[in-house]
Formats: sequence, structure tokens, C-alpha cells
Amino acid sequence: MVQTNSSLPSDFIRDIIEDDLKTNKYQGRMATRFPPEPNGYPHIGHAKSICLNFGIAAQYRGTCNLRMDDTDPSGESMEYVNAIIRDVKWLGFDWEDRLYYASDYYEKLYQYALQLIKMSKAYVCSLSADEIRQYRGTFTEPGKESPYRDRSTEENLDLFERMRAGEFVDGTHVLRAKIDMVSPNITMRDPVMYRIKKETHYRTGDAWCIYPMYDFAHCLSDSIEGITHSICTLEFENNRPLYNWFLDKLKVEHQPQQIEFARLNLSYTIMSKRKLLELVEIKLVTGWDDPRMPTIAGMRRRGYTPEAIRNFCERIGVAKNDSIVDMALLEHCVREDLNERAPRVMAVLRPLRVVIDNYPEGQVEEFDCPYHPKNAAMGSRKVPFSRVLHIEAEDFLENPPKKFYRLAPGREVRLRYGYFIKCVSVAKNERTGEVIEVHCTYDPATRSGFAPDGRKVDATIHWVSAAHAIPAEVRLYDRLFRVADPLTEGSDMTVCLDPKSLEILRSCQVEPSLADAIPGSPFQFERVGYFCVDPVHYSGEKALVFNRTVTLRDSWAKITEKGK
Ligand code: ATP
Ligand code: MG
Repeated sequence: MVQTNSSLPSDFIRDIIEDDLKTNKYQGRMATRFPPEPNGYPHIGHAKSICLNFGIAAQYRGTCNLRMDDTDPSGESMEYVNAIIRDVKWLGFDWEDRLYYASDYYEKLYQYALQLIKMSKAYVCSLSADEIRQYRGTFTEPGKESPYRDRSTEENLDLFERMRAGEFVDGTHVLRAKIDMVSPNITMRDPVMYRIKKETHYRTGDAWCIYPMYDFAHCLSDSIEGITHSICTLEFENNRPLYNWFLDKLKVEHQPQQIEFARLNLSYTIMSKRKLLELVEIKLVTGWDDPRMPTIAGMRRRGYTPEAIRNFCERIGVAKNDSIVDMALLEHCVREDLNERAPRVMAVLRPLRVVIDNYPEGQVEEFDCPYHPKNAAMGSRKVPFSRVLHIEAEDFLENPPKKFYRLAPGREVRLRYGYFIKCVSVAKNERTGEVIEVHCTYDPATRSGFAPDGRKVDATIHWVSAAHAIPAEVRLYDRLFRVADPLTEGSDMTVCLDPKSLEILRSCQVEPSLADAIPGSPFQFERVGYFCVDPVHYSGEKALVFNRTVTLRDSWAKITEKGK
């Protein structure tokens, strides 16, 4: 298992666990679980929970189970199970042989339900869903008891067995816990434990047509697995008494405790699986792994690293009150990690031809260029240089304004890793007047990047040799939404989508060392940003596709500097 940091984090959950270990509450044992419902791909919010549950288990030499919380046949699938397995692994965590499914506990849960009926702690209610809602009352008004609340145990057992046998249509009956219809906590007003749903389950098929509700299934699944600390998000705080009620009434051997923490909210994106599914279904993104999605699969494809995500999760910490984390912090963590690990290379996204008039035709020389300015261990590669180059179109202006220091007629600049070149003339498209080629001369004495006579240049620009460069497609990804909180801007999140969140550049030229770049591997395109080779290929003929992971500009570093 990975240890996320050498200085171990501490927070209120870890405090509780340390106390419990000290007092030997669970015979010195600790066990957590990550319990996703396989009804969508995991997102960065889930990553927070994954890092917390697995991180804590590693820190205190406990265990963390991976449990599919699959108690609702609608929307669950094996595709999602596989995505969850892949993503938790990719983040660097290991559940060893402890992969569990709540659906494996259906029979046990059913037996627990029978037990509650026999104890007169559960009853079959035949009110409609609407009626149940009306009877429940509100925050200010007490609820009303169901007319079916006092059915005899025999009648309840008979009806519940027939519910299981498939005798009734959906919605005609439910099994409810008999607790307290006037409880100030609405969750405790005879909550539903089972409902009829005649749907095929992705694992149990048609074996069942009644399915347990979260509140009933979760605490018992935790108990069955011997979980000691059942960590969940804050919205389940009101459900904790119910969690304990089931465990108490059933006198289960092992009684886990539920602890709530604040879920992660992130600006400029959304964290609801239902809404993310909507984006996928109406094809506003290319899939769950679209690099603009806040999913782990999307972030992986975009070039985010597990280390960056784990570091982010550690930095935001665990708290007891909800807040919104700035997307700039996540991007900062990604830059920080890629700055260390990404080899530097040269790529020209919008090429402009440069001809060096005094460089011999047919001559090629090679520059030895280090992959990293601070880490010699990363080695170097040879970059060919010849008479015709591509530079970034925006690095040349025919009529430059005052503060433009790059290439312009009569102006000299340095080529990264190489010579000084000076613009002597331009060739234009006769019809449009557009500059199509820039002519320069080079100074052979400046191969080291410096002039022996001490003269200086104001800019260094990147380039590739036209005859050696490889064509590539580059996808410039940006934040998916224009606004910090797409959900409060009205009910329709789609109006907040940023139409500029993806720009595809099809005529990029990259240095030849990238020919064998491994899908998914990160690079810094010097002066441009961090990119990775797209691990998913949409078009067969295109050999190289790069995804922009993140720009070089770090707004978070600026924010924190200002705050100093
Ligand atoms: P839903 O239950 O509506 O499908 P969910 O996001 O809660 O959505 P789950 O699959 O139930 O999805 O979540 C698995 C685990 O991840 C739960 O323990 C949940 O508390 C946790 N989790 C979900 N979203 C976040 C978040 N934004 N921040 C932290 N933890 C989260
Ligand atoms: Mg949930």
C-alpha cells in the first residue's frame, strides 16, 4: 500500500481512530471500506474518500475493503464495477483479496429483515409512495402512523415472503422499520427497508425482485465485514441514529461506528454522478473518460498523475463542514508533480516556416538537449537542426507593438538550445497578404546560445526542424464550465458549459524524439504547457495525439503569493 506522505496527516477522524486503538475498542483492530455504488465512474470526490479510507488503513496497519454498494438494480453495471476497480488501483491502493459486493449479502440481509419482523420491529406497509411521503410529516410537523403499522407478525411474514416471491407489482408494498413517526429526526420515522423492483440486477439477475435500501444494507454490510470505522459524507449525519438502530435491534456481533466528513466540492465542475451521466448521455462530452470530466478516468486520460491527485487529497484535508475547493489548487498540484517528472521537449502548435538563408542546404546538425533543467538523471536526446524550421506563429510579428520582444523584421532572437537568428525578410501569400515564410540569417558563432561579442537578445523561442518534425494532433483542454458553480447558475448546467473547453489543432509539428512516446506519458512542451500522449485513439490513421494536461500558468501560486 502507498503511504501518501512522509509527514503523516492528522485530522478529527484519525484522532478518533487513535483513541479507539488506545482504548482497545475493537481489540486493537481497525478496518475501513470504500463503498461505491457501481452506477457511474468514480470522480475526484470519490478520490478523496478513497485516499482517506485506504490512507488511514495503511497508516494504522489496518485493512480497507473495496465494496460495491450495489443494492439498486437501476443504472448499475459491470462496466462501472470495472471502472471503479481500475481507478482505485491506478490511484495506488490495494484491497488484496477483499473485494466485496453488497449483492452477495442479499440472503443474509433478508434473514435480518425477517428477524426484525419477528421482533415486531418491521412491518409491511401498503401505502403508496405518495402517501408514505404525506404521512412522514415535515421538519416542523410530526408524522402520522401508517394504518398498516399494526399488522400481525404472521401477516407481515406472509406478505414479505410473497413480496420476495414476486406476487406483487412494484410500489404496492414496502417493508418499513417500526421506529417512531414523531421523531424530530425524519430519518427515524419508520424508514423503508425494502421495496419491490422487478428489474434485472447486473449480478443477481432475476433472483430477487425486492431490494434493500441503503440505510438497512449499509450498516449490516459494514457489520458483516467487520468494519470498525465506517467513514461517509456529511449528508448521512441524520442517518447515523438509524445506522445504529438496526445494529442495536439485531444485536449483531460486530458493531461498527459511522463517522461523517465533508464531501469535496470543486469549483468549475460538478460532482454528481447523475449529472455527469447526463453529460455523457447527451454527448456533451465524448464519454466518462473525456479529459474534461472530473472523473478519475478523465483525469488519467488528460495526464493527471495518481501522485498529484493523492497529494491534492492530502492537502485539502478532512473537515466537518462543507466548503468549495478551488480548481486552481488541483491544477497547481498537477503542475507541481509534472514539473518534477515531465521530460522537456519542443513542439510547435501553430507552425510558421522559417528559412535560414545562410545555413547550407542539406546540412543537418544535432543538439544534445537535456530532458530536464534540474534533473540530469533524466538524460538527454538529440534534436536535429537544419535550414528550414517551424516556429510558433505567435512568436513572429511583422509589425510588432512596443512590448513584443520576439521575432520581427530586423530583430534577433535565440533559438532554444541553439543559435541566434535574425529576421531579414518575409514571404507573403500574394492574395491574402498573410506572412507564410520568414527568412532569417543565423550567426554560426552563437551555437552555445551566447554571442562571443556579448550582445544580448530579448527572447528565446522554441522550434522544430521541418524535415525531421513529426506531425501531431494536439487537443487543448480547458475547464469544462465557464462559471465557478455551474449548478447554482440555474437548473440547466449545460448553459454554463464553456464552448472553448476543447480546441483541436491538427497541424502541429513535434520534435522527432516523440515518435516513440508511450501512450499516457507526460511531457512539458517548452513554453507551451504540460501534455500527455492520448492513451485512447479515436482515429486509426493519426499516430500521435497529445492532450493538454494543464497550462504552465499557475493561478494558484499567484493567489497564495498575494496572500503572503
Ligand atoms: P450517489 O450515492 O448519489 O450515487 P455518491 O457520489 O454518493 O452518489 P457513491 O458511489 O455512493 O456515490 O460514493 C461512494 C463513496 O464515496 C461514499 O462513501 C461517498 O460518501 C463518497 N463520496 C462521494 N462523493 C464524494 C465527494 N464529493 N467527496 C468525498 N467523498 C465522496
Ligand atoms: Mg452514495
